[in-house]
Amino acid sequence: MNTAMNTAMNDAAEAFRKLLEAQFLRLEHMNTERTDFSRKETVTIGIIDGDGIGPIITAQASRVLEKLLADEIAAGSIVIKQIYGLTIENRMACGQPIPADVLAQIKTCDVLLKGPTTTPHGGTLESANVAMRRELDLYANCRPVCIPEKNIDWMFFRENTEGEYVLGSHGVELPGMAVDFKVTTDLGTRRIARAAFDYAKNNGKTHVAVVTKANIMKKTDGKFTAIAHEVAAEYPGITVDDYYIDIMTANLLKEPLREQFQVILLPNLYGDIITDEAAQIQGGVGTAGSANIGDQYAMFEAIHGSAPRMIQRGMGDYANPESIIKASAMLLRHICRVNAAERLEKAMEACAVTVTSDGAGATAEQYADALMALL
Ligand code: NAD
Repeated sequence: MNTAMNTAMNDAAEAFRKLLEAQFLRLEHMNTERTDFSRKETVTIGIIDGDGIGPIITAQASRVLEKLLADEIAAGSIVIKQIYGLTIENRMACGQPIPADVLAQIKTCDVLLKGPTTTPHGGTLESANVAMRRELDLYANCRPVCIPEKNIDWMFFRENTEGEYVLGSHGVELPGMAVDFKVTTDLGTRRIARAAFDYAKNNGKTHVAVVTKANIMKKTDGKFTAIAHEVAAEYPGITVDDYYIDIMTANLLKEPLREQFQVILLPNLYGDIITDEAAQIQGGVGTAGSANIGDQYAMFEAIHGSAPRMIQRGMGDYANPESIIKASAMLLRHICRVNAAERLEKAMEACAVTVTSDGAGATAEQYADALMALL
């Protein structure tokens, strides 16, 4: 072993020690009280535009929310607050995934509707989403996929604050190699598993599929599976089955087997990958919304990214806003505005206007106009 290697190993060991320290610190702050939106006098909704097609689709979702909540906005029980500065330009200039002043603004809100944000390849700038999930402790990523005519009604519960994802910007490079890390904690797994089983119980679901790669990632995924089963024992009447992520990607395409899946519980990275597949089965990423829920804050967004190529091709106005409008319906449910959520969901079902990214269909704005006429 030469001196350069020894130095690199010592530096890496020190980086690993710091990373573990941060994880222990995170564990200490993990248990917080849940906000009860049914009792909250004023709910502040922050709107974050994001990058690329973000401002285009977010503007339409914002119009829809403002129409649905007009009376409450006038009465002051709902406040809509525009949050500026979560742009790739500003994040790069500050060298922060969420610039400190923007984060301070975000923390004055209860819930957020967020447009997609660009994450540069390589470099060290962390994804704004990963940072947001960590800063606001948004541990449950809920992604519904529903295709009634195919008998598909899936709800994915993806763990949002652990796994490879959260440590992805903290890997180490040594001579001739690079190493990344993955973390799974007892508390972190228990709370996402509870969220999934609570959802199943409260929505008449009888089956939860736990999806990992525990045969290979024995420690982290092994822990995830074991704790999911401990939690399952508290929910009689709900059955639980384990699947490996590789076969699960195939199962989602397999008829009629896929119809049996109801609630699907996964660690972070697998959840990220498989929900894009599920969204594609539903009609594309432009049709899928998602919720990022914590005990105090919650953030709602489309599952897709900022579609930079659509912007480069000058087709940004044809980005489908259905994804973020569906996320808005999830936001309304989360803050206990169930009637408004149902009005929106029914209008979306009835809306015959389609947006196609090739420009043959309506623009995002035309879609929102048609939708709002149905509200
Ligand atoms: P992407 O989701 O932006 O695009 C994938 C494909 O889907 C492209 O063909 C795009 O044109 C299409 N598409 C996406 N949204 C659409 C919509 N609303 N209507 C019509 N077509 C749509 O994925 P990508 O190209 O891998 O990522 C682009 C950037 O977005 C990257 O910087 C990535 O890090 C970021 N990203 C952000 C989020 C987020 O903020 N939640 C999520 C994923 C990716």
